[in-house]
Amino acid sequence: MRAAVLQDIRNIRVTEIPTPTPKADDDVIVRVKAVGVCGSDLHSYLEGGTTGPTRINDPFVLGHEFSGNLIPESARKLGLSADALVAVDPAIPCGHCEWCHRGHTNLCPNVRFLGYAPHNGAMAEFVCVPQSAVHVVPETIDPAGAAILETLGVAIHATDLARPRLLESVAVLGCGPVGLLLVQLARLCGVGNIIAIDPVVARGQLACDLGADIACRSFAEVPEVTDGRGVDLVIEATDSSHGFEHAARCARIGGRAVIVGIPENNEYVLSGAESRRKGLSVKFSRRMPEVYPRAIALAQSGRVKLSPLATHSFSLDQAPAAFAQQVARENGIIKAIIYP
Ligand SMILES: [Zn+2]
Ligand SMILES: [Zn+2]
Repeated sequence: MRAAVLQDIRNIRVTEIPTPTPKADDDVIVRVKAVGVCGSDLHSYLEGGTTGPTRINDPFVLGHEFSGNLIPESARKLGLSADALVAVDPAIPCGHCEWCHRGHTNLCPNVRFLGYAPHNGAMAEFVCVPQSAVHVVPETIDPAGAAILETLGVAIHATDLARPRLLESVAVLGCGPVGLLLVQLARLCGVGNIIAIDPVVARGQLACDLGADIACRSFAEVPEVTDGRGVDLVIEATDSSHGFEHAARCARIGGRAVIVGIPENNEYVLSGAESRRKGLSVKFSRRMPEVYPRAIALAQSGRVKLSPLATHSFSLDQAPAAFAQQVARENGIIKAIIYP
């Protein structure tokens, strides 16, 4: 089969690799219809296959936000029709460790995550997944939307951690796909003013279309639009080393911050006084536990809009171009979707 393989920094090659076959009894094979390029894929692409400290040397297939159809044999196994659209939760926690037992399946140290080295992902024609990871998607959600359910899951988990309160002020720092979903979820939670912050003007505008009240190009504008007070809650969804610091600068005294973004080069740049003197409460958000049923319900009911995020389409052969464009953030790109 064809697959987009990350070879090295900024080097993706679309090439022929062996088609996967079921290895365990509960494995099924998905024929991939749509796969999104995620911010974490960009870190792998720009920083050598990883979002952490270790450089990955062996090539692997990227892609963890995806949807598709089961091949006929797998569909029969699950009692589904072969044309049913399915989304796949890419995280496969071990289920046996203390942290899984405590409900922190998103923090399982033994997790197998599709599309994160060394596990091949979905920028390919086929991918092998355990049947427990498969979620049937209603017809009202299209393949790109079904792929973005994974991104929505990340935003749902961050919102669960943030516990937004009625009418409090919220800043969403970074209006990429996760930020735009965070804005929509904050609106649903009944918060007050939502300030969307992104240096790309079109992203701030889109955030306002999706529920934000004010768009700022920089965190530095927040004192001005809050009469010097800062906001009650900041949710950070940038890819910058300065995201944490900027979140601290936006928050009010005694405020809260939830850090969702993965910083470039695995590093936060943070001065101590700002967070300390404000007595901030900070939470870090990582991936998500079991949230697919809620993600599907939010999308199906129209409470959260996914289609405005799927701005650019590419074939599998165009995967290198999809990554280059996503990195450049030009032409109004929010999320590149690859259709293998
Ligand atoms: Zn992702
Ligand atoms: Zn575990």
